[in-house]
Amino acid sequence: MMAQQRTADGGVVVVGGGAAGMMAAGQAAMAGAAVRLLEKKERLGSKVLISGKGRCNLTHDARAEELIEAYPGNGRFLQGILHEFDSGRLREFFAEYGLETKTERGGRVFPVSEAAKDVVQALSQYLQAGGVAVECRQTVKEIQLKDGRVSGVRTAAGVIPGKAVIICTGGASYPGTGSTGDGYRIAQALGHTVVTPRPSLVPLRTREDWVQEVQGLSLRNVEVSLWVRGKKKAAKFGEMLFTHFGLSGPVILTLSREADEALRAGEEVRLQIDLKPALTQEQLDLRLQRDFQRFSNKQCKQALDDLLPKSLIPVVIRLSGIDPERVVHQMTREERQRLGKLLKALTLTLTGALPLAAAIVTAGGVDVKEIDPKTLASRKVQGLYWAGEVVDVDGVTGGYNLQAAFAMGYRAGRAAAYYVTGENQRS
Ligand SMILES: Cc1cc2nc3c(=O)[nH]c(=O)nc-3n(C[C@H](O)[C@H](O)[C@H](O)COP(=O)(O)OP(=O)(O)OC[C@H]3O[C@@H](n4cnc5c(N)ncnc54)[C@H](O)[C@@H]3O)c2cc1C
Repeated sequence: MMAQQRTADGGVVVVGGGAAGMMAAGQAAMAGAAVRLLEKKERLGSKVLISGKGRCNLTHDARAEELIEAYPGNGRFLQGILHEFDSGRLREFFAEYGLETKTERGGRVFPVSEAAKDVVQALSQYLQAGGVAVECRQTVKEIQLKDGRVSGVRTAAGVIPGKAVIICTGGASYPGTGSTGDGYRIAQALGHTVVTPRPSLVPLRTREDWVQEVQGLSLRNVEVSLWVRGKKKAAKFGEMLFTHFGLSGPVILTLSREADEALRAGEEVRLQIDLKPALTQEQLDLRLQRDFQRFSNKQCKQALDDLLPKSLIPVVIRLSGIDPERVVHQMTREERQRLGKLLKALTLTLTGALPLAAAIVTAGGVDVKEIDPKTLASRKVQGLYWAGEVVDVDGVTGGYNLQAAFAMGYRAGRAAAYYVTGENQRS
């Protein structure tokens, strides 16, 4: 259609067929540009396919102002972008391509089919409808310039011409999905500043090895707080998981960005788990008294069954310093209170985060100061655009990262198309 009316060298080349790249390519095509989408892997959307444990939490049900709050990495940069293309727009977009979505507890939005492959399928239909030329197994090595403007890209196979290039190469986490940080190298070669890539939404290692005893245990409705040099920095309520090396799960991932930054700065960083956040210390003590009355002739290790998951009981008793064999009615008030305090503040010392490759997202990336948020155009090179995780923007868990990638892709695709169609009319 429209796309085919344009000459190839006057078109838009999109680098990277992830969430941002697919959205950008389709929008550029719908806005009248000839578009080639170049993807390094053998298929599109490898990371989308594994997102949300294969269910793809594609956005978060919230208004733009609320969404912006969920990006510790440069949320303000997204302000106009998310107002134009918020979660409602995204859901309407997917509905147009046959993908119905549903909101789960906490506002997370998933496909009704609960299959990430249906998200990629809908995006593929959209690309086809726009007449985008999709080329897989094409790795872009560098951007070609002529008179200081973009003139195309170089791949292993040769030069592909284009008046505008949108770079959507993602971050540097989960490199098996194709996002191996190529965009950062391309950015630096073009004179862009790259804010040091580092892990965000990443599991954390602990000094205490008792976590191994409870590995696999998932705790719901706990409050975890982050303490740096003895000061409380943040607290999150929800679900967490013990692993063989430390901690993971949504609450931990959300706190990980700040924890990792403090650890990198050489600070002493601890996490405190409040196992009973719905009870005050006094209420919990009353609850312990009641339970202990009921189990007064049992051993201490048998008296916590109603209060804690089984595997955690021996750990908690050991940490409290109480003899597990001790009969409950022999326990002192001081011992009971010590136990209560531990249940409200089970403390772990952090030693580090897992590496960037194991992070759900990459914090850092192409400096937002060098990108115009109205168009996602580079302020350094004419005809160059950036979208998605390659940009120094990152969100917490809950669908925010895909929402940001889609919204940036939407705007960059349209802006690049207007740029080339305007240029084509001039030439
Ligand atoms: C395990 C996991 C689960 C996740 N779950 C969720 C979730 O449920 N909800 C959510 O919001 N976010 C989730 N995320 C984060 C989200 O998937 C990413 O933030 C999002 O995919 C970023 O989109 P993108 O298009 O910028 O990059 P990507 O999706 O990473 O796409 C980049 C693409 O560029 C290609 N590429 C790279 N270099 C080149 C090159 N030189 N030439 C050509 N092509 C290239 C890559 O092969 C890749 O296909 C998850 C991430 C992971 C790792």
